Amino acid sequence: MYLCRMMLNTKTVAFHTLGCKLNFSETSTIARNFMAEGYTQVAFNDPADVYVINTCSVTQNADKECKYWVKQALKANAEGFVIIVGCYAQLKPEQIAKIEGVDLVLGATEKFNITTYLGDLEKYDKGEVHSCEIDEADFYVSAYSIGDRTRAFLKVQDGCDYKCTYCTIPLARGISRSDTVENVLANARKIAAEGAKEIVLTGVNIGDYGKGEFGNKRHAHTFLELIEALDQVEEIERFRISSIEPNLLNNDIIDFVARSRRFMPHFHVPLQSGSDHILKKMKRRYLRALYADRVAYIKQEIPGCAIGADVIVGFPGETEEHFMETYNFLNELEVSYLHVFTYSERDNTEAAAMPDAVPYAERKKRARMLRALSAKKRRAFYESQLGSTQEVLLEGDFKEGYMSGFTGNYVKVKQLWDPNLVNTSKKIVLKSIDEEGMVLFEEQQNILTLA
Ligand code: SF4
Repeated sequence: MYLCRMMLNTKTVAFHTLGCKLNFSETSTIARNFMAEGYTQVAFNDPADVYVINTCSVTQNADKECKYWVKQALKANAEGFVIIVGCYAQLKPEQIAKIEGVDLVLGATEKFNITTYLGDLEKYDKGEVHSCEIDEADFYVSAYSIGDRTRAFLKVQDGCDYKCTYCTIPLARGISRSDTVENVLANARKIAAEGAKEIVLTGVNIGDYGKGEFGNKRHAHTFLELIEALDQVEEIERFRISSIEPNLLNNDIIDFVARSRRFMPHFHVPLQSGSDHILKKMKRRYLRALYADRVAYIKQEIPGCAIGADVIVGFPGETEEHFMETYNFLNELEVSYLHVFTYSERDNTEAAAMPDAVPYAERKKRARMLRALSAKKRRAFYESQLGSTQEVLLEGDFKEGYMSGFTGNYVKVKQLWDPNLVNTSKKIVLKSIDEEGMVLFEEQQNILTLA
């Protein structure tokens, strides 16, 4: 065994997370389970007794990424005990177990029991799998991230009952189920006690919150009731809704955010396509008219609100015309930025068996066009906010002598680095946009002091 464990006299563990905010909240929770067992967390490129890689299954690179991080772990400590968890581990456990250097693969029901599998940490000759049929993953485990960012991710819901034809998430995470309102409030207070100022609510389909709260299929509460309850948690300055399906984003939720001081004027709403023909093939639960109506209602009730949209390009059967429908739809819509995904075939999805695959180069070209549109949209949104008074929460990232932060409506601003200002918020007036697209500001003068 190497030096650092002897020096630290405790066992060490390192984590790497791929994918979404939900995965980050779960890695952070698993890390706390290790600390409770007396482990010390070290950086992933440091020698460690155990390496945990939390995987994602959304893109076809999942396999390559997993292999890459296993290699990184073994580069740091060739004797490190390597454990793979997460969505990809649930979907392809046997395939992952064959990766050189992997010791343990834990599925959706076992990842939170990880410390019960540790033993003497001697490496196995071949990877051992402890997984299950996804139907067995019908119970809920709380999770939240803390400590490594200004913004904490709070899991409130897991799984999904929708059947979007390109998506593997229901296969990796199971049915829709939710935490209890009491538990979510308790976790929010724990996060506040650790000093975080902002909480991002995360899940798989959080608009479906309340389903399976008490282990049954019924909704015990609605998402609106949950955020109304969280609005009473005075210890937290800001709440942000990570992403919500357009068909679940009703007027009551938008009205609530419009009048709330704690819930930020920022919605991330997956669109996926601006062509009704493609939306039907994706089995999305809305058509483009509903999406446009949601955007219009948000802008009517909260004019300065940021709206982000997910969009997939290159879905089977997407012709140039369908793509231009999407492009023109987004170009006309008052969205503030786009997250663009290039369609990739995922095993066991309906779409993977569909004819009329779009050539990969064409998918890439369409993605480039939408990313350019996203940059234009973000610039236009930022320009529309210049001169406005906002509140910024400054973060701890030091870059070339500057630090940055986001306003409530998700405008990224920067100022000269000052370590005393990390995780603090202040009122500012947005002034100009620099060559990198970051916004410069002036502090809002306190009229009283001037007088
Ligand atoms: S709503 Fe659709 S895309 Fe989102 S997780 Fe559920 S099945 Fe996947």
